[in-house]
Amino acid sequence: MKINKVVVLGGGVLGSQIAFQTAYSGFDVVLYDISDAALKGANQKLSSLPAQYQRDLNATQEQLNAVNRHLSLTTDLKKAVSDASIIVEAIPEQLSIKESMYQKLAPFVSDNTLLLSNSSTLLPSQMISFAPNKNRFLAMHFANLIWIHNAAEIMWAPGTPQTAIDDAVDFAKSIHMVPFAIPTEISGYIMNAVFLPMLNAALFLWVEHDLDPIMIDQDWMVGMGLSRGPFGFMDIMGINTAINIEGSLYKEIGDERYKKIVDKLTNDYLKQGKMGVPSGEGFYHYPNPLYQQPEFTKA
Ligand code: NAD
Repeated sequence: MKINKVVVLGGGVLGSQIAFQTAYSGFDVVLYDISDAALKGANQKLSSLPAQYQRDLNATQEQLNAVNRHLSLTTDLKKAVSDASIIVEAIPEQLSIKESMYQKLAPFVSDNTLLLSNSSTLLPSQMISFAPNKNRFLAMHFANLIWIHNAAEIMWAPGTPQTAIDDAVDFAKSIHMVPFAIPTEISGYIMNAVFLPMLNAALFLWVEHDLDPIMIDQDWMVGMGLSRGPFGFMDIMGINTAINIEGSLYKEIGDERYKKIVDKLTNDYLKQGKMGVPSGEGFYHYPNPLYQQPEFTKA
Protein backbone atom coordinates (compact mmCIF):
# COMPACT_ATOMS: atom_id res chain seq x y z
CA MET A 1 0.00 0.00 0.00
CA LYS A 2 1.12 3.56 -0.59
CA ILE A 3 1.57 5.41 2.70
CA ASN A 4 1.11 9.17 2.61
CA LYS A 5 0.59 9.93 6.30
CA VAL A 6 0.71 7.96 9.54
CA VAL A 7 -1.26 9.15 12.57
CA VAL A 8 -0.43 8.06 16.09
CA LEU A 9 -3.21 8.51 18.64
CA GLY A 10 -1.82 9.13 22.12
CA GLY A 11 1.63 10.55 22.83
CA GLY A 12 2.30 8.57 26.00
CA VAL A 13 5.08 6.09 26.67
CA LEU A 14 4.53 4.01 23.55
CA GLY A 15 2.80 6.51 21.27
CA SER A 16 5.71 8.94 21.43
CA GLN A 17 8.16 6.15 20.55
CA ILE A 18 6.01 4.87 17.68
CA ALA A 19 5.63 8.39 16.26
CA PHE A 20 9.36 9.07 16.51
CA GLN A 21 10.38 5.72 15.00
CA THR A 22 7.92 6.13 12.12
CA ALA A 23 9.19 9.65 11.36
CA TYR A 24 12.78 8.39 11.69
CA SER A 25 11.89 5.81 9.03
CA GLY A 26 10.96 8.62 6.65
CA PHE A 27 7.16 8.84 6.92
CA ASP A 28 5.12 11.94 7.60
CA VAL A 29 3.61 11.49 11.04
CA VAL A 30 0.98 13.38 13.00
CA LEU A 31 0.82 12.71 16.72
CA TYR A 32 -2.61 13.38 18.20
CA ASP A 33 -3.35 13.77 21.90
CA ILE A 34 -6.33 15.03 23.85
CA SER A 35 -5.03 18.27 25.33
CA ASP A 36 -2.20 20.79 25.22
CA ALA A 37 -0.97 19.42 28.53
CA ALA A 38 -0.85 15.91 27.03
CA LEU A 39 1.05 17.25 24.00
CA LYS A 40 3.52 18.92 26.34
CA GLY A 41 4.11 15.54 27.97
CA ALA A 42 4.50 13.96 24.53
CA ASN A 43 7.03 16.62 23.56
CA GLN A 44 9.05 15.92 26.68
CA LYS A 45 9.17 12.22 25.84
CA LEU A 46 10.07 12.94 22.22
CA SER A 47 12.87 15.27 23.24
CA SER A 48 14.59 12.48 25.21
CA LEU A 49 14.74 10.19 22.16
CA PRO A 50 17.42 11.76 19.90
CA ALA A 51 20.17 11.10 22.47
CA GLN A 52 19.01 7.50 22.79
CA TYR A 53 18.94 7.04 19.00
CA GLN A 54 22.45 8.47 18.80
CA ARG A 55 23.68 6.16 21.56
CA ASP A 56 21.90 2.98 20.43
CA LEU A 57 21.64 3.34 16.64
CA ASN A 58 24.43 5.81 15.84
CA ALA A 59 21.78 8.12 14.39
CA THR A 60 23.29 11.13 12.62
CA GLN A 61 22.28 14.74 13.26
CA GLU A 62 20.90 14.85 9.72
CA GLN A 63 18.62 11.85 10.40
CA LEU A 64 17.44 13.43 13.64
CA ASN A 65 16.75 16.77 11.96
CA ALA A 66 14.66 14.91 9.38
CA VAL A 67 12.51 13.48 12.19
CA ASN A 68 11.56 17.05 13.17
CA ARG A 69 10.54 17.84 9.60
CA HIS A 70 8.39 14.69 9.37
CA LEU A 71 6.68 14.89 12.75
CA SER A 72 3.95 17.26 13.91
CA LEU A 73 1.67 17.30 16.96
CA THR A 74 -1.95 18.32 17.26
CA THR A 75 -5.09 18.14 19.38
CA ASP A 76 -7.29 18.48 16.26
CA LEU A 77 -8.54 14.95 15.57
CA LYS A 78 -10.22 15.74 12.25
CA LYS A 79 -7.13 17.44 10.86
CA ALA A 80 -4.90 14.65 12.14
CA VAL A 81 -6.86 11.74 10.78
CA SER A 82 -8.13 13.08 7.44
CA ASP A 83 -6.08 11.55 4.58
CA ALA A 84 -4.27 9.17 6.92
CA SER A 85 -3.13 5.92 5.35
CA ILE A 86 -2.42 4.33 8.71
CA ILE A 87 -3.62 5.13 12.22
CA VAL A 88 -1.78 3.61 15.15
CA GLU A 89 -3.83 3.83 18.33
CA ALA A 90 -1.77 4.02 21.54
CA ILE A 91 -4.24 5.42 24.07
CA PRO A 92 -4.86 4.00 27.58
CA GLU A 93 -5.53 0.31 27.98
CA GLN A 94 -9.23 0.58 28.79
CA LEU A 95 -11.87 -0.81 26.47
CA SER A 96 -14.29 2.08 27.11
CA ILE A 97 -11.62 4.68 26.20
CA LYS A 98 -10.74 2.80 23.01
CA GLU A 99 -14.45 2.49 22.14
CA SER A 100 -15.16 6.18 22.50
CA MET A 101 -11.99 7.08 20.53
CA TYR A 102 -12.91 4.74 17.63
CA GLN A 103 -16.40 6.23 17.51
CA LYS A 104 -14.92 9.71 17.21
CA LEU A 105 -12.66 8.52 14.38
CA ALA A 106 -15.45 7.03 12.29
CA PRO A 107 -16.48 10.17 10.33
CA PHE A 108 -12.89 10.88 9.21
CA VAL A 109 -11.59 7.42 8.31
CA SER A 110 -11.60 6.20 4.70
CA ASP A 111 -12.26 2.60 3.63
CA ASN A 112 -8.55 2.16 2.89
CA THR A 113 -7.21 3.43 6.19
CA LEU A 114 -5.44 0.76 8.18
CA LEU A 115 -6.27 1.08 11.91
CA LEU A 116 -3.75 -0.60 14.20
CA SER A 117 -4.21 -0.88 17.96
CA ASN A 118 -1.13 -1.12 20.14
CA SER A 119 -3.22 -2.70 22.90
CA SER A 120 -1.16 -5.02 25.12
CA THR A 121 -3.95 -7.15 26.50
CA LEU A 122 -7.19 -6.62 24.54
CA LEU A 123 -8.00 -8.96 21.66
CA PRO A 124 -8.95 -7.59 18.22
CA SER A 125 -12.31 -9.43 18.56
CA GLN A 126 -13.06 -7.37 21.67
CA MET A 127 -12.52 -4.10 19.82
CA ILE A 128 -13.63 -4.79 16.25
CA SER A 129 -17.34 -4.18 16.89
CA PHE A 130 -16.65 -0.46 17.35
CA ALA A 131 -13.70 -0.13 14.94
CA PRO A 132 -14.63 2.20 12.07
CA ASN A 133 -13.51 0.04 9.13
CA LYS A 134 -13.64 -3.52 10.28
CA ASN A 135 -11.88 -4.99 7.24
CA ARG A 136 -8.73 -3.05 8.00
CA PHE A 137 -8.51 -3.23 11.78
CA LEU A 138 -5.72 -5.19 13.44
CA ALA A 139 -3.66 -5.18 16.60
CA MET A 140 0.01 -4.29 16.24
CA HIS A 141 1.82 -4.55 19.52
CA PHE A 142 5.15 -2.79 19.91
CA ALA A 143 7.60 -3.48 22.69
CA ASN A 144 8.82 -0.67 24.89
CA LEU A 145 12.08 0.92 23.67
CA ILE A 146 10.81 0.24 20.17
CA TRP A 147 14.03 1.27 18.41
CA ILE A 148 16.07 -1.48 20.07
CA HIS A 149 13.37 -3.97 21.11
CA ASN A 150 11.94 -3.89 17.62
CA ALA A 151 9.37 -6.68 17.60
CA ALA A 152 5.93 -5.94 16.17
CA GLU A 153 3.35 -8.57 17.09
CA ILE A 154 0.35 -8.60 14.77
CA MET A 155 -3.05 -10.18 15.49
CA TRP A 156 -6.46 -9.87 13.88
CA ALA A 157 -10.07 -10.93 14.36
CA PRO A 158 -11.37 -13.91 12.34
CA GLY A 159 -12.36 -12.88 8.80
CA THR A 160 -9.86 -10.04 8.46
CA PRO A 161 -8.76 -9.99 4.80
CA GLN A 162 -5.23 -11.19 4.02
CA THR A 163 -4.49 -7.88 2.23
CA ALA A 164 -4.91 -6.01 5.52
CA ILE A 165 -2.61 -8.46 7.30
CA ASP A 166 -0.03 -8.13 4.51
CA ASP A 167 -0.25 -4.32 4.68
CA ALA A 168 0.32 -4.39 8.45
CA VAL A 169 3.35 -6.68 8.04
CA ASP A 170 4.77 -4.44 5.29
CA PHE A 171 4.26 -1.33 7.42
CA ALA A 172 6.05 -2.96 10.36
CA LYS A 173 9.00 -3.81 8.15
CA SER A 174 9.08 -0.34 6.64
CA ILE A 175 9.58 1.19 10.10
CA HIS A 176 12.34 -1.32 10.87
CA MET A 177 10.37 -3.69 13.05
CA VAL A 178 10.62 -7.48 12.95
CA PRO A 179 6.99 -8.52 12.36
CA PHE A 180 5.42 -11.55 14.04
CA ALA A 181 2.03 -12.30 12.46
CA ILE A 182 0.30 -14.51 15.04
CA PRO A 183 -2.43 -16.52 13.30
CA THR A 184 -4.66 -16.86 16.34
CA GLU A 185 -5.91 -14.45 19.02
CA ILE A 186 -3.94 -14.96 22.23
CA SER A 187 -4.16 -12.66 25.21
CA GLY A 188 -0.71 -11.09 25.58
CA TYR A 189 0.43 -12.19 22.11
CA ILE A 190 3.69 -14.12 22.57
CA MET A 191 5.80 -11.61 24.48
CA ASN A 192 3.33 -10.79 27.26
CA ALA A 193 1.98 -14.34 27.42
CA VAL A 194 5.48 -15.21 28.59
CA PHE A 195 6.39 -11.95 30.37
CA LEU A 196 3.23 -11.20 32.41
CA PRO A 197 3.16 -14.43 34.46
CA MET A 198 6.80 -13.74 35.33
CA LEU A 199 6.01 -10.11 36.25
CA ASN A 200 3.06 -11.19 38.39
CA ALA A 201 5.16 -13.79 40.17
CA ALA A 202 7.63 -11.03 41.06
CA LEU A 203 4.81 -8.71 42.18
CA PHE A 204 3.32 -11.43 44.40
CA LEU A 205 6.72 -11.88 46.05
CA TRP A 206 6.66 -8.14 46.73
CA VAL A 207 3.10 -7.69 48.05
CA GLU A 208 2.57 -11.10 49.66
CA HIS A 209 6.01 -11.86 51.05
CA ASP A 210 7.31 -8.32 51.42
CA LEU A 211 10.49 -9.15 49.51
CA ASP A 212 12.64 -6.22 48.38
CA PRO A 213 12.01 -5.50 44.66
CA ILE A 214 15.69 -4.70 44.19
CA MET A 215 16.72 -8.09 45.56
CA ILE A 216 14.15 -9.82 43.35
CA ASP A 217 15.64 -8.08 40.30
CA GLN A 218 19.20 -8.85 41.35
CA ASP A 219 18.48 -12.55 41.92
CA TRP A 220 16.63 -12.81 38.59
CA MET A 221 19.34 -10.96 36.68
CA VAL A 222 22.24 -12.94 38.17
CA GLY A 223 20.48 -16.30 37.95
CA MET A 224 19.09 -15.84 34.44
CA GLY A 225 22.00 -13.87 33.01
CA LEU A 226 19.72 -10.97 32.04
CA SER A 227 20.36 -7.25 31.90
CA ARG A 228 17.12 -6.15 33.59
CA GLY A 229 14.74 -7.60 36.17
CA PRO A 230 10.93 -7.47 36.41
CA PHE A 231 10.84 -4.21 38.42
CA GLY A 232 13.28 -2.57 36.02
CA PHE A 233 10.97 -3.63 33.18
CA MET A 234 7.97 -2.23 35.04
CA ASP A 235 9.66 1.18 35.33
CA ILE A 236 10.14 1.19 31.55
CA MET A 237 6.55 0.12 30.94
CA GLY A 238 5.36 2.95 33.19
CA ILE A 239 3.65 2.51 36.57
CA ASN A 240 0.25 3.67 35.23
CA THR A 241 0.26 0.97 32.54
CA ALA A 242 1.22 -1.63 35.15
CA ILE A 243 -1.72 -0.45 37.30
CA ASN A 244 -4.08 -0.74 34.31
CA ILE A 245 -2.90 -4.26 33.54
CA GLU A 246 -3.12 -5.45 37.16
CA GLY A 247 -6.52 -3.74 37.52
CA SER A 248 -7.83 -5.62 34.45
CA LEU A 249 -6.51 -8.90 35.85
CA TYR A 250 -8.31 -8.19 39.14
CA LYS A 251 -11.57 -7.52 37.28
CA GLU A 252 -11.15 -10.62 35.14
CA ILE A 253 -9.91 -13.11 37.75
CA GLY A 254 -11.07 -11.59 41.05
CA ASP A 255 -7.89 -12.66 42.88
CA GLU A 256 -7.39 -10.20 45.75
CA ARG A 257 -3.62 -10.29 45.26
CA TYR A 258 -4.03 -8.21 42.07
CA LYS A 259 -5.96 -5.59 44.06
CA LYS A 260 -3.15 -5.49 46.64
CA ILE A 261 -0.70 -4.83 43.80
CA VAL A 262 -2.86 -2.04 42.37
CA ASP A 263 -3.23 -0.41 45.79
CA LYS A 264 0.49 -0.61 46.57
CA LEU A 265 1.54 0.72 43.16
CA THR A 266 -1.04 3.50 43.47
CA ASN A 267 -0.20 4.59 47.00
CA ASP A 268 3.57 4.11 47.04
CA TYR A 269 4.36 5.11 43.47
CA LEU A 270 1.60 6.81 41.41
CA LYS A 271 0.49 9.15 44.23
CA GLN A 272 4.13 10.03 44.95
CA GLY A 273 4.67 10.99 41.28
CA LYS A 274 6.93 7.96 40.79
CA MET A 275 5.77 6.84 37.37
CA GLY A 276 8.89 4.91 36.36
CA VAL A 277 11.17 6.04 33.54
CA PRO A 278 8.61 8.63 32.26
CA SER A 279 8.95 10.67 35.50
CA GLY A 280 12.60 9.87 36.24
CA GLU A 281 11.80 7.71 39.26
CA GLY A 282 10.02 4.45 39.92
CA PHE A 283 11.66 1.47 41.55
CA TYR A 284 14.92 3.01 40.32
CA HIS A 285 16.22 6.51 39.59
CA TYR A 286 16.85 7.54 35.95
CA PRO A 287 18.67 8.10 33.66
CA ASN A 288 21.30 5.88 35.35
CA PRO A 289 19.39 3.17 37.21
CA LEU A 290 21.22 1.12 39.79
CA TYR A 291 20.66 -2.11 37.86
CA GLN A 292 22.85 -0.78 35.04
CA GLN A 293 25.83 -0.31 37.37
CA PRO A 294 28.36 -3.17 37.02
CA GLU A 295 28.43 -3.78 40.80
CA PHE A 296 24.65 -4.47 40.89
CA THR A 297 25.11 -8.10 39.91
CA LYS A 298 28.43 -8.69 41.67
CA ALA A 299 28.86 -10.38 45.07
P1 NAD B 1 0.28 6.20 28.49
O1 NAD B 1 -0.65 6.35 29.62
O2 NAD B 1 1.72 6.48 28.67
O3 NAD B 1 -0.21 7.12 27.27
C1 NAD B 1 -1.53 7.21 26.85
C2 NAD B 1 -1.70 8.48 26.05
O4 NAD B 1 -3.04 8.52 25.56
C3 NAD B 1 -1.49 9.76 26.88
O5 NAD B 1 -0.65 10.64 26.16
C4 NAD B 1 -2.89 10.33 27.04
O6 NAD B 1 -2.93 11.74 27.08
C5 NAD B 1 -3.58 9.81 25.81
N1 NAD B 1 -5.01 9.71 26.04
C6 NAD B 1 -5.64 9.62 27.22
N2 NAD B 1 -6.97 9.54 27.02
C7 NAD B 1 -7.16 9.58 25.72
C8 NAD B 1 -8.30 9.58 24.92
N3 NAD B 1 -9.52 9.47 25.44
N4 NAD B 1 -8.12 9.69 23.62
C9 NAD B 1 -6.89 9.80 23.09
N5 NAD B 1 -5.77 9.83 23.80
C10 NAD B 1 -5.92 9.70 25.10
O7 NAD B 1 0.05 4.72 27.92
P2 NAD B 1 1.06 3.76 27.14
O8 NAD B 1 1.87 3.01 28.11
O9 NAD B 1 1.71 4.51 26.04
O10 NAD B 1 0.02 2.72 26.54
C11 NAD B 1 -0.77 3.05 25.43
C12 NAD B 1 -1.19 1.76 24.76
O11 NAD B 1 0.00 1.05 24.37
C13 NAD B 1 -1.98 0.82 25.67
O12 NAD B 1 -2.95 0.14 24.92
C14 NAD B 1 -0.91 -0.14 26.17
O13 NAD B 1 -1.45 -1.40 26.50
C15 NAD B 1 -0.03 -0.24 24.96
N6 NAD B 1 1.35 -0.67 25.21
C16 NAD B 1 2.06 -0.15 26.26
C17 NAD B 1 3.35 -0.61 26.49
C18 NAD B 1 4.17 -0.06 27.62
O14 NAD B 1 5.23 -0.66 27.93
N7 NAD B 1 3.81 1.06 28.23
C19 NAD B 1 3.93 -1.57 25.64
C20 NAD B 1 3.19 -2.04 24.55
C21 NAD B 1 1.89 -1.60 24.37
